[in-house]
Amino acid sequence: MNYSYELLKKWDFDYIWHPFTQMAEYKQKDPIIIEKGEGSYLIDVQGKRYIDGVSSLWVNIHGHNRKEINDAIIQQLQKIAHSTMLGIANVPAILLAKKLIEITPKNLNKVFYSDNGSTAMEVALKIAYQYWVNKGDKQRTKFVTLKNGYHGDTIGAVSLGGIDLFHAVYKPLLFETYSVSSPYCYRCPFKLSFPSCGLECLNELEDTVKKHKAEIAAISMESTIQAAGGMIVLPPGYMKGAREIADRYQIPLILDEVAVGFGRTGKMWGCEHEGIAPDIMAIAKGITGGYLPLAATLVTDNIYEAFEGDFTKTFYHGHSYTGNPLGCVAALACIDIFERENTLEKLKMKIEHLSKRLKEFWELKHVGDIRQKGFIVGIELVRNKETKEEYPYHERIGFQVIYKAREKGVIIRPLGNVIVILPPLSINIKELDKLLDVIRWAIREVTEK
Ligand SMILES: *Cc1c(COP(=O)(O)O)cnc(C)c1O
Repeated sequence: MNYSYELLKKWDFDYIWHPFTQMAEYKQKDPIIIEKGEGSYLIDVQGKRYIDGVSSLWVNIHGHNRKEINDAIIQQLQKIAHSTMLGIANVPAILLAKKLIEITPKNLNKVFYSDNGSTAMEVALKIAYQYWVNKGDKQRTKFVTLKNGYHGDTIGAVSLGGIDLFHAVYKPLLFETYSVSSPYCYRCPFKLSFPSCGLECLNELEDTVKKHKAEIAAISMESTIQAAGGMIVLPPGYMKGAREIADRYQIPLILDEVAVGFGRTGKMWGCEHEGIAPDIMAIAKGITGGYLPLAATLVTDNIYEAFEGDFTKTFYHGHSYTGNPLGCVAALACIDIFERENTLEKLKMKIEHLSKRLKEFWELKHVGDIRQKGFIVGIELVRNKETKEEYPYHERIGFQVIYKAREKGVIIRPLGNVIVILPPLSINIKELDKLLDVIRWAIREVTEK
């Protein structure tokens, strides 16, 4: 069973089509082929160790190969791996739903399972639409969304999103939304400075809702930060303002907590920073601590009650692996670690350390902006610091930096010209320092030499 690196590489190139990857570029490099994980590290088939600087794309929380989560899965595996949730229940799905209701904002009282962030958002938007239909209002076919948003890659989720690079090509397939300006302070759509920009964006949101209120099923946005859109932190008060607008016009608010949920921002849920709660909330990425695909869409009693009654009100949606028991026990073990180890308490000091260390990055010649929220960082590289002139796309400056970082044992991924840092919450200070040292070095190597 021990295949050589060369053979694995050949089969990788021969048989796999990688996501979000230009395969022609991918094949020009020796691929990293991961075999093992250990805490903050990924280990490849040749035994080289890399810090997992993006938590395997947001999902890893407590480190790789955690005994508690491994054991929970093994124990469950000896009982049953999967049974359907269509019309019957299973033990871990029940226990996890109860737990999720306890730890999420208190107006959210029902859990609808699916298996990834995109489906959690598909479920959210279908629920929002059918909520109105079930109440006898069939006119509400529109959603209010934010420009530059990202909610996943299925067609409904892409329709809610607005990142041209990923989404423009599918435009003919998408449904239309009322899309309003994103409060992107660094490149303010209104050329205002913070916080007036956020207020101006809220005014636009309110005007749009007011104008079209009879057609709108829900207001939908990413919680706290536009992640894939380049780590755009929403100005404080923005989500609260959106909540007030939703209330004023009695339209449900959908918050996508897929990326920021499970402690990423320093609090369990991003919306806690604003003291608000959505009517519908999508969670996924960190839910199983990065182990298994699982997601959930949580709703209020008010939303749920519109579906309970006769058959015409049924929510006809479900996936083969909905409420998968292995995923649910992994999620329970992941939440249990948060509670037993005081993960969020310990994270505070790491977030402070991270903020302090990021100050050094401001001094670099080609760092145009640094955005941080909790354990999420985006460092925007610019050709000219004064004019904020961007690096052209074809220079692939972000990719050059991450390839450089690999040489010194760090795996990260860029978003265009933005270097992303989001280590597992369990990373220790020494590892965090190494991660930052390597990234700083890689940025200088690529942009200053
Ligand atoms: C990643 C992401 C999704 C999609 O989740 P997948 O599990 O990749 O389908 C949805 N919303 C946000 C905010 C995300 O960051």
